[in-house]
Amino acid sequence: MKKAAFLIIFSSWGLAAVAQVQIRPLPEEGFEKRIRDFVYNLWIVDTHEHLMAEENLDGSSMMDFMLLLHHYADDDIKSAGMGKPEFAELLTDKYTVAEKWQRVKPFWENAKSTAYGRAVLLAIDKLFGIPDLNDETVEKLSEKIREAYGKGSWDDYVLHERALIRYAILDVGKRRLDDPNFRYVEKFDNFIRVYSHADIEKIAQNADLTIASLEDYEKALEKAFDEALARHIVGVKSALAYHRILDYQDTPRPVAEKVFNDLMAANSDDAFPFEEVKPLQDYIMHRIIRLAQKHDLPMQIHTGLQAGDGNIIRNSNPALLANLFMQYRDVKFILFHGGYPYGGEFGTLAKNFRNVYIDLCWLYIISPSYAGRYLHEWIETVPANKIMAFGGDFHNVEGAYAHSLMAREVVANVLIEKVRTGYMTEAEAKAVAQKILYQNAKDLFGLE
Ligand SMILES: [Zn+2]
Repeated sequence: MKKAAFLIIFSSWGLAAVAQVQIRPLPEEGFEKRIRDFVYNLWIVDTHEHLMAEENLDGSSMMDFMLLLHHYADDDIKSAGMGKPEFAELLTDKYTVAEKWQRVKPFWENAKSTAYGRAVLLAIDKLFGIPDLNDETVEKLSEKIREAYGKGSWDDYVLHERALIRYAILDVGKRRLDDPNFRYVEKFDNFIRVYSHADIEKIAQNADLTIASLEDYEKALEKAFDEALARHIVGVKSALAYHRILDYQDTPRPVAEKVFNDLMAANSDDAFPFEEVKPLQDYIMHRIIRLAQKHDLPMQIHTGLQAGDGNIIRNSNPALLANLFMQYRDVKFILFHGGYPYGGEFGTLAKNFRNVYIDLCWLYIISPSYAGRYLHEWIETVPANKIMAFGGDFHNVEGAYAHSLMAREVVANVLIEKVRTGYMTEAEAKAVAQKILYQNAKDLFGLE
């Protein structure tokens, strides 16, 4: 089959002429299938998960179809109108499976068309052989879930054998320290999120230290950091876009110290307004970055959409972080979640700054079409060593697996399109896939 690519040539006075020029050799027939097969068979590094431990789930009160609705799908079920307390009751043993289903069904019927809903349907189809969630299948699905967890090796089967996840990087929380396929990052956000004397007290208690001065406070932070280093963390994570604006000024220490002392002098539960504590919070963020710098650890930063309901999206614009990238040129910053919906800013930052990397974790279940649209653009704008194309970001392994399929599909389609249009060769497309799904994260986090 003969095809030709079109090249538009602009003359210097602005007139366009269309010439039929072949800019790359045409791809060999069958490239679509070869690229898709290649992408689907790659081992991947999953850069971000919150997986619950299997042993804690077996026998829990959401060990039925609700296991698959309790994370992410729940956001859209509530966005579709279900009350928070009503939803929470479905994760208890207050109701039978049939009763839970009757309560959630009207909201699920509206929420199931979102990509969160699609991930659920994909998981039940591919893992349990059930093509839809409805009156007829809800009991059967619940049974199959309990059966799967009863075997004791379900996680490993789903993540390793089905999702082909070679390594997964877990956010703080549910630890699986004995498993060589997992690595960890740690958050120190609690040291930044202080609004009152009581918040500082809580940190002192956790650290088992007396904190009376900013110096003591910084020592508590260093102690927490040392403890995390002893657990062999591979990076530092920050999720503060859920709670405040991603603008961190380099506050002089005396200014931060004044705020700290004011907090200590106030009544325990008197919460200060954000504007008043911001200089201290900003100062601590810079301290944490310096610790990451000292120990050569990359920093993963949440940008874009916040999960849950009711938040301020403008707090999360990745462009707000530019002063940090400029100031700490030798710290590797990894921006999360495709910056949704700030995809243009997101790619621009990674293009502009040698020390900025982008990560598409969570993104394909937020919107596969956004992910595809922007991956096209990011491949064109950001060097291929700085894109990490998958992180499941799920509580449950079924979600992580379904998400990995959605990611592979988008990555394959984008690369096929890039080859079809003559933007790159088939070999180049495969090399990019291997980098963005595996090699980049392996190198960046030093995974062995
Ligand atoms: Zn996450």
